[in-house]
Amino acid sequence: MAKIFCVANQKGGVGKTTTAVNLAAGLAQLDQRVLLVDLDPQGNATMGAGINKSELEASVYEVLLGLADIKTACKTDGNGGFHVLPANRELAGAEVEMVELDNREKRLKDALATVDAEYDFVLIDCPPALSMLTLNGLCAAHGVIIPMQCEYYALEGLSDLVNTIKKVHAKLNTDLKIIGLLRVMFDPRMTLSQQVSAQLEQHFGDKVFKTIIPRNVRLAEAPSYGMPGVSFDPSSKGAQAYIAFGAEMVQRIKSM
Ligand code: ADP
Ligand code: MG
Repeated sequence: MAKIFCVANQKGGVGKTTTAVNLAAGLAQLDQRVLLVDLDPQGNATMGAGINKSELEASVYEVLLGLADIKTACKTDGNGGFHVLPANRELAGAEVEMVELDNREKRLKDALATVDAEYDFVLIDCPPALSMLTLNGLCAAHGVIIPMQCEYYALEGLSDLVNTIKKVHAKLNTDLKIIGLLRVMFDPRMTLSQQVSAQLEQHFGDKVFKTIIPRNVRLAEAPSYGMPGVSFDPSSKGAQAYIAFGAEMVQRIKSM
């Protein structure tokens, strides 16, 4: 049975999609069977994995609304060695359309239950909001990976996310826990980055992943080629860091 993780942070531009796509590719390089679920109507993870979001026969939208089977919607021809349940702008309508459905927080969970024997990892790229879509991700997951930049405002907003996770844990999904905080876009030359990073370790202890993802231009360039950075330039520092993060996750799930 797959271990299912949300990559979540309600802030935009903090590296959620980059983390979801490159962790998926890193795990695939480590011979793990991976499904990447794009839960953001922007479809960035879909495109970043090399799948054209405007040519989808079915997407996560149809799966959530019960209009398509998850196996039909999953794409296996992306560029990272993993499968993708893709998304596009249609997904923005799902928030409203799901209101009328039974069990609306658990639509993704129920769909994933039918395929989870086929994967070791399912990674869910969440949108930048604590919305019904994110709630579907949190209800389906065993754990949350929270990417954050080591800057002055990094901790602001973290308490909202932590409170949401606590509520979901209490009411909807007792499996859910915070797996860890991932330091991303790290610039070791900045004293502030070093300070915030040290504060995070002090405060959150082993909830902070050992792997640190550096700021690396190859990671930012890769999506325009429809490739994860890990596949686009495997020897780059960013790719190496995400492969190391994949290895750290493989270790972590052994004790879960
Ligand atoms: P989110 O999904 O949280 O909105 P993204 O993963 O899309 O964030 O990242 C926001 C921007 O930062 C993108 O342009 C992305 O290419 C860039 N980026 C993310 N991580 C890195 C990194 N480690 N080094 C350089 N650029 C990065
Ligand atoms: Mg994103």
